Amino acid sequence: MTQPMGWPDWRDVDGAMLEFLERLKGREFATTCCDDCGTCFFPPQGLCPECFSENVSFKHPEGKATLYAFTHIDRSFRFAAPDVIGIVEIEGVSGRVLSRIDAPLEDLEIGMDLTLDFIDVGEGCLLHQFRPVT
Ligand SMILES: [Zn+2]
Repeated sequence: MTQPMGWPDWRDVDGAMLEFLERLKGREFATTCCDDCGTCFFPPQGLCPECFSENVSFKHPEGKATLYAFTHIDRSFRFAAPDVIGIVEIEGVSGRVLSRIDAPLEDLEIGMDLTLDFIDVGEGCLLHQFRPVT
């Protein structure tokens, strides 16, 4: 399918998201970083959103993760309901990470520090999640 110029293609045409998911299976959270300008970004993709270089590679973000926003959903597709979903910022990474947050809603505050964790959702699939730093 051809898309008009300037329209993002949300499919994983460059395979970066598939590689991200494969790395998650090995309990590895990595995103793509530009080897030309140094920008790291999420979601992973094969084109740098800053300088449009295709010279990107996977790296482990080392910056601090903080909670940008959160909510709960009463009907969850993958997890036990109700479930807490958050938007997470990682220092040094452009873009934000949508993730399950492994904590009760009442324990969360915007801006709090989070730590990365993983959740086994069955059938060989591991996903990332975050929880408050204790
Ligand atoms: Zn770049």
